[in-house]
Amino acid sequence: MKIYLDGQYCAKEDAKISVFDHGLLYGDGIFEGIRAYNGRVFRLDEHVDRLYDSAKAILLTVPLTQQEIKDVVVETCRLNGIKDGYIRLVVTRGVGDLGLNPNKCPKATVFCIVTGISIYPEKAYQEGLKVVTAATQRISPASLSPAIKSLNYLNQIMARIEGNLAGADELIVLNNEGFVAECTADNVFVVKKDRIFTPPVSAGALGGITRRAVIDLAVEMGLMIEEVNLTRYDLWVADEIFLTGTAAEVVPVREMDGRSIGTGKPGPVTEQFTKAYHQLTNSSGTPIPS
Ligand code: PMP
Repeated sequence: MKIYLDGQYCAKEDAKISVFDHGLLYGDGIFEGIRAYNGRVFRLDEHVDRLYDSAKAILLTVPLTQQEIKDVVVETCRLNGIKDGYIRLVVTRGVGDLGLNPNKCPKATVFCIVTGISIYPEKAYQEGLKVVTAATQRISPASLSPAIKSLNYLNQIMARIEGNLAGADELIVLNNEGFVAECTADNVFVVKKDRIFTPPVSAGALGGITRRAVIDLAVEMGLMIEEVNLTRYDLWVADEIFLTGTAAEVVPVREMDGRSIGTGKPGPVTEQFTKAYHQLTNSSGTPIPS
């Protein structure tokens, strides 16, 4: 396995960063999770745009141009002979002293890892996930905007731990007003009668690339998705719920907080999006040269 680290492609054993890196000491950094399908990197431009927006929001200078970063992603895939895989692109504040002042970190650390992936077992896609509402709320945008894809994932991990304790596959995470924000690493969609809803990003959701792709697909399919504030009640009484994320793709929910969702099986709208999303991921993207 070859890993890109600060200008070099090195072996996994040699891909090491300093214990003084503020990414490690303070979670001071940003990242992207990207997928490659069929020899192409899916929505690379969108991921790199979001990475640069995250960088701007935390006043972090990425020491590469957007084009150079895209080249790194594609080259890491090529070097590893990856046609289908998961790409983790990370930019940390870099090495500083033990104080938290980012001005003491002269240069950001950049690395890119490519691996295989499967987060939910195949059964999840056929039968749907069991989800519960987390007691851990999404961090308020006044504290740390959930739109920043930062290395600070303790909020999501605290929710994930609740899921482990409750024997649930995923968590529905609410904002501090009680509206549904998203999941620990996925966005959420609800189908009720002939309407489809998803929380607005302002409810505390990450602006997911998969979420965007699903909204675009809906428009192409002549379906409308409305971005509205949703409560747990709206989810409990939904005909269908599905989650979206780069790793998860489009995954159905069969049960939430002990309530069976719709028929308790993946519904027709979810299946329509699962199919359309697979078609899209397999037929578009930035080519990886062989
Ligand atoms: N929300 C959070 C908190 C996430 O970490 C992710 C995964 N990156 C998502 C939503 C889904 O975003 P995307 O579709 O861009 O992977």
